Amino acid sequence: MNTFRPLCIALAALLAGGGLLAYADTVRIEQVERDLTVNAPPPVLGRVIIDPGHGGIDGGCHRDTLFEKDVVLDIALRVRDLLRDQGVDVLMTREVDTALDHLIEKSRLPIRHKRDLLARIVLARMQGVDVLVSIHANSSSNTVTEGAMFFFGPHSEEASALAYHIHEQVSLLQRGRQFLPSAAEYYMVNRYVPVAVLVEVGFLSNDRERSLLSDPQYRQSMAEAITRGIVQFLENYRGITS
Ligand SMILES: [Zn+2]
Repeated sequence: MNTFRPLCIALAALLAGGGLLAYADTVRIEQVERDLTVNAPPPVLGRVIIDPGHGGIDGGCHRDTLFEKDVVLDIALRVRDLLRDQGVDVLMTREVDTALDHLIEKSRLPIRHKRDLLARIVLARMQGVDVLVSIHANSSSNTVTEGAMFFFGPHSEEASALAYHIHEQVSLLQRGRQFLPSAAEYYMVNRYVPVAVLVEVGFLSNDRERSLLSDPQYRQSMAEAITRGIVQFLENYRGITS
């Protein structure tokens, strides 16, 4: 099922109709964020949105012909399917190779990258999403560096718990290579969605990890680990049975 198109249509309708995002033409991102806080519907407990980073003209990091946007979309789609198999109410910010900046009018926010990030938050907020997991891949000038990283908003104890649940599962897959979760002021995890975590699945700049992340079987294993972490968080920490 393609949830991306209905979300886009709903967002376009709201933008055109002046619903959730009814604001002045010259509004800045801070004003948009304030409107989101005031007008968004209350979150639905346990509703999850998976956010594959980047997309379209924004490839994210890359090595040779392997682009972050493609790696994380494939893993995210696998997570979506696995979560649905477990009965979790799951949505996606994107299900195809596209950026999302076009969902926010350029005149309202001139920086493309910020429009792209804001659109992801808007999609989550419009759907009353309670849990957001943004999936990315990493790159470093130090090609020895490897392992997954996990970031959560510094103001949410629940986000920390979710990050540790996912970390625990990914650590079984990566056997100690991954980093401990840490609080970060990143836009995607810092505001507007009650429980938000960003997972960097590994380093494309590391030869071994790039090879693993090119392998569909490893991507499936990574998706299964992330899914187990989300489901265990929902069941153990939130008391939601799937
Ligand atoms: Zn990224």
